[in-house]
Amino acid sequence: MSITAEHATSPHLFLRKKLGHVIGGRIVESESGQYFDTLNPATGQVLARLAQGDAADVDKAVRAARAAFEGPWSKWTPYERQALLMRIHDLVEQRFEEMAQLETLDMGSPITRSRNLKKMVLQAIAYFATQTMNSKGLLLPNNMVGNVKSMIVKAPLGVVGGVLAWNNPLVGQWFLVGGALATGCTVVLKPAELASLSVLYMVNLLHEAGMPEGVVNVVTGYGAVAGAALAGHTDVDRIVFTGSVGTGRRIVEASASNLKRVQIETGGKSPDIVFADADLDLAVPSAAMAVFNNSGQICTAGTRLFVQRSIQEEFVERLITFTKTLRIGNGLDPDVQMGPVISQQQLDRVMGYVESAVPEGATLAAGGQRLGGDLASGYFIEPTVFSNVTPQMKIAREEIFGPVLSVLPFDTEEEVLHLANATEYGLGGAVWTRNLSTGMRMVDGIKAGSVWVNCYGGLDIGVGMAGYKMSGYGIKGGPGYTDAFLYEKCVYINVP
Ligand code: NAD
Repeated sequence: MSITAEHATSPHLFLRKKLGHVIGGRIVESESGQYFDTLNPATGQVLARLAQGDAADVDKAVRAARAAFEGPWSKWTPYERQALLMRIHDLVEQRFEEMAQLETLDMGSPITRSRNLKKMVLQAIAYFATQTMNSKGLLLPNNMVGNVKSMIVKAPLGVVGGVLAWNNPLVGQWFLVGGALATGCTVVLKPAELASLSVLYMVNLLHEAGMPEGVVNVVTGYGAVAGAALAGHTDVDRIVFTGSVGTGRRIVEASASNLKRVQIETGGKSPDIVFADADLDLAVPSAAMAVFNNSGQICTAGTRLFVQRSIQEEFVERLITFTKTLRIGNGLDPDVQMGPVISQQQLDRVMGYVESAVPEGATLAAGGQRLGGDLASGYFIEPTVFSNVTPQMKIAREEIFGPVLSVLPFDTEEEVLHLANATEYGLGGAVWTRNLSTGMRMVDGIKAGSVWVNCYGGLDIGVGMAGYKMSGYGIKGGPGYTDAFLYEKCVYINVP
């Protein structure tokens, strides 16, 4: 079946239907004919059946992407790619409400949050439209015999594979698609099996905007099969991965098949540090939402909240009060501020951490239960705060990826920097203080790819976010971002 505008204009066409891969501009079944269910985490009900891709489907998609890369797409000028991105920008602007609703149905995020992502997505697409003109080469002085004009030019890498996480596909997909369209690469995306719908919707919009067939392809399916096939495929030039550390390691290993380039973005256990002189009216809600936003399923979540001892008691009291005001429920309700976690498995995992905390000596200050009643068929966990947490406890060391906040006391700057950096991760970190000198010392001292002062978790596509240590490598956004979709070619032209 060809992709039609009809598929993009009504998100409801997606629901309760069998949805194929999108390969070479067509919607296709799996070679195996197999499908799997994707569920609404707020209700546990089936939303749609997705094609279950395997190595044969991935190979078909990579061949389509290669053919597109070598074909007419390679002749598109930067301006033509820019104009395509601008058409995509306008279509996304018109249809964002449907994308937001699909995202909320598919991964549970409150609709107000999904809607608020519109600005970031549109800014990302507009940024990539500017990057089409950003491929800068160099003309260098000659050191060789003869009149040699020596230069370094940049050329598109080729086929880029993207393995996405489920927690924010509405935004995450654009870092790959935008980068590829800006530079003339082609893409095979493998969305997370738990949240593929916004990615399928997006690829339809790209075709509607006039993107040639095969430039962006989507293969749905399980990570260990379809994801692994993409990571190991020898005709994929680069793989971009977002997900857990364990899978990231497997992706790096699989990339050895053809020494493909790799970008890895994994998890975190980010410190959020509040000094006694901070503006608590700002710091309290921000520290809470640094973890409860998206039910804690944010890679940069500020899960280790270090509070200076002199204000700890007051801070925890205010956190408890704030937490009680949060409205939890089905994300389609515009009043809801926190939705479910993504799956039963994730719920069990998070509750395992919650249950480990009190026996290890933490104090349960708020939450700690799965929600029942009307919400019993979904995967809802109360926003949970533990105080008197020590750095050795499991909840202070491991990424939980759920609505669980750990409060740890500290006395001095030196001590808190040591504690903040005592983790294998290095994704984010924040400091709250009215003292600029303290703030700058913490910025210098925190070992992480993004650091915020008197705010938490913002991302400006023009600046970017990066990873450090086991949180991965490569920057997302910022002035040099699209260079990673290009390779350098050293050219020597002898002019007799
Ligand atoms: P995951 O590693 O289980 O899955 C991520 C993706 O990898 C999915 O598409 C999955 O199908 C695929 N996959 C699984 N096994 C694979 C394999 N063997 N080979 C190839 N692909 C495979 O992670 P998750 O649970 O879906 O996502 C949550 C994690 O993602 C958290 O750790 C979170 O911190 C991280 N994350 C990081 C960022 C970031 O930008 N740093 C953003 C979002 C999420």
